[in-house]
Amino acid sequence: MKPKTRFQYKVAAANERLQPIKDKAVEWAFHHTLNHYAFRSPKGLTTCLDCGHKWYEKGDKKCICPKCGAKLEINDTLCRKAVDKSYCSVLETQDGMQIQRVFLLTAVYRKGGKPEIHIRETLRYWLDENGQSAVTALRRTLGFYRDSFSLCSDIELRNDSDVFQYIADCEVYPRYTAIPKLQRNGLKGGFCGIAPQRLMKALLSDNRIETMMKAGQKAHLKYFIYNSQRLDECWAAYRIVMRNNYHIADIGVWADYINMLVQCGKDIHNAHYVCPTDLMAAHDDYQEKIRILREREKLEENRRKALEHEQEFRKMKGRFFGLEFTDGTIVVSVLDSVLAHYQEGDALHHCVGLESYFLNPKCLILSARINGRRIETVELSLTSFKILQSRGLQNKSTEYHDRIIALVRKNVKHVRKRMAA
Ligand SMILES: [Zn+2]
Repeated sequence: MKPKTRFQYKVAAANERLQPIKDKAVEWAFHHTLNHYAFRSPKGLTTCLDCGHKWYEKGDKKCICPKCGAKLEINDTLCRKAVDKSYCSVLETQDGMQIQRVFLLTAVYRKGGKPEIHIRETLRYWLDENGQSAVTALRRTLGFYRDSFSLCSDIELRNDSDVFQYIADCEVYPRYTAIPKLQRNGLKGGFCGIAPQRLMKALLSDNRIETMMKAGQKAHLKYFIYNSQRLDECWAAYRIVMRNNYHIADIGVWADYINMLVQCGKDIHNAHYVCPTDLMAAHDDYQEKIRILREREKLEENRRKALEHEQEFRKMKGRFFGLEFTDGTIVVSVLDSVLAHYQEGDALHHCVGLESYFLNPKCLILSARINGRRIETVELSLTSFKILQSRGLQNKSTEYHDRIIALVRKNVKHVRKRMAA
């Protein structure tokens, strides 16, 4: 890809001026990022593939070479060769820009010889003072593996990709240099488990990240860099947290909780809400509140839709309105609106609020109550005039069930009469 912007021209020029990666960095990478092996013969004779030292080792899977001190993985094998690879990086500056240089390190271990080390620089992430970034890399070849690079290509400007980002999430040689703004913004020591170029870019372009870095909140930093939309959502609340020296027990749970406070319309500038004494309990509380809220919204939506059916319902069942029978205690009356069906369903937690009931021309729904309290809901067939069902709270029968059935049966004639009218 040819440079287009001023920044890309600057990167392309600086890209030509870099020195080879220092031997010390490669040596560090060899010792810290690769596996090291000992091959053990069936008789127990063990060979360190780092220094060639031989001894008898009884250990299980791991040992330390008595001569060179390398931590070794024991392979019980007659093989004579092993290969290990890793991506590692160094941080440097060039022409006022920050670079992460990523290289592929390959070690070929042979029994009876020194390890052969190959190093191939693969890609470079470039950042300017404002966090603007560019990539120079080897050309990728189409292939199944992530690290399919054309080794005979040059390191040139390329479009950034997930693969580059994935590879650049690797160990950094601890003796690095950083541009002054990164140092000022708090970069020193480790990378808190965050991909180096992502952390640096965030530190250069977002002063909220800088604030967290300086406060030493590594877990929070990591969470917000990988969940950046949550940072926008939570930042106001997070500032309250800092001002109150509140300890966040779990940043993911807390961010979730803040999100739920917003959904419930709570003030996230208020320490009372954003700094709960027991975060887990508060989180669970709001989770329940949200569940109820969603349920209510859904119900409301259904109700709104159902009310659109009111006219149709009146046309279909209007002739039965006002029908009411009693045995002195129980009063059974016809439900005379869609809303009444909903209220009945809500109160008794059954599904009489469904269209299939109130808009069914073949049935009539009646409510059996004592002193206005709902006892059971009765479904009467308008074709056979039989009682199809009568149910109380959560679809169960009540102690009045038989009396209700008898009362409706006795008065079915009034329903028939209205039907014929
Ligand atoms: Zn050794």
